[in-house]
Amino acid sequence: TPVIELTNVSKVYVSENVETHALTNINLSIYKGDYVAISGPSGCGKSTLLSLMGLLDDISSGSYKIEGVDTQSLDADTLAELRNLHIGFIFQSFNLIDELSVFDNVALPLIYREQPLSQSDITQRVNRALSQVEIDHRANHKPNQLSGGQQQRVAIARALAGEPSILLVDEPTGNLDSKNGDAVMAILASLNEQGTTICMVTHDPRYAGYAKQQVKLLDGEVLQTQSEVNDSDNV
Ligand code: ADP
Ligand code: ADP
Repeated sequence: TPVIELTNVSKVYVSENVETHALTNINLSIYKGDYVAISGPSGCGKSTLLSLMGLLDDISSGSYKIEGVDTQSLDADTLAELRNLHIGFIFQSFNLIDELSVFDNVALPLIYREQPLSQSDITQRVNRALSQVEIDHRANHKPNQLSGGQQQRVAIARALAGEPSILLVDEPTGNLDSKNGDAVMAILASLNEQGTTICMVTHDPRYAGYAKQQVKLLDGEVLQTQSEVNDSDNV
């Protein structure tokens, strides 16, 4: 079963009687262990695709399954549950809370989970996530005592601590200089080598190259898909 399976997915935004066809007939399957980069110029539908995959917005037509579960006609609570269970988000902005330590920032979503975890489970998960991104030595620092690259690693740890089925990553290097950007990309690549499934959206072809599979969008349609093994196969 694919982690994520989109079949003929379209998204149409309607505002003030104007229709925008943001995505048209997208077919995309992401399997455990994949690292997919979705790239394309501004306005091609990258953010829309990520928000559909992250259950932040509804598809207009087609079918979207996550871990084999059809997401159509589920109520908001069930969608929120699926999102918490399966999705880890990483954004361009780190969205860390300045008043909390690194440790507490990573622990916070675990504390507010539907199914409560024991304190020792939380501690274990947070420490493991912090070492996965090599920031455990800064657990007691506040976010503003860290470099941008370190803050993004904390944000990655926060996503990992939820033990999601997939990391959805949106322009992770957008706020970073190239040195810190490269370091964050290296961390994502090493997480993927250890088995983490990743789908990343970027307009930067250089960073897309870190992924194992490439999906190129143009005007809301898949222009090309490519993996390391197969040179090219069109969806
Ligand atoms: P990208 O992330 O590749 O820049 P987007 O997914 O943000 O592209 O946008 C795809 C298209 O959908 C664009 O034409 C954009 O203007 C439009 N769009 C995005 N969000 C909305 C919205 N909330 N309402 C109306 N149109 C939208
Ligand atoms: P990295 O270790 O990710 O390459 P830097 O070389 O930018 O990060 O930072 C080295 C050290 O300086 C870090 O351990 C960090 O704690 C500290 N530091 C970096 N930037 C800032 C900042 N803007 N404010 C406070 N401390 C910082």
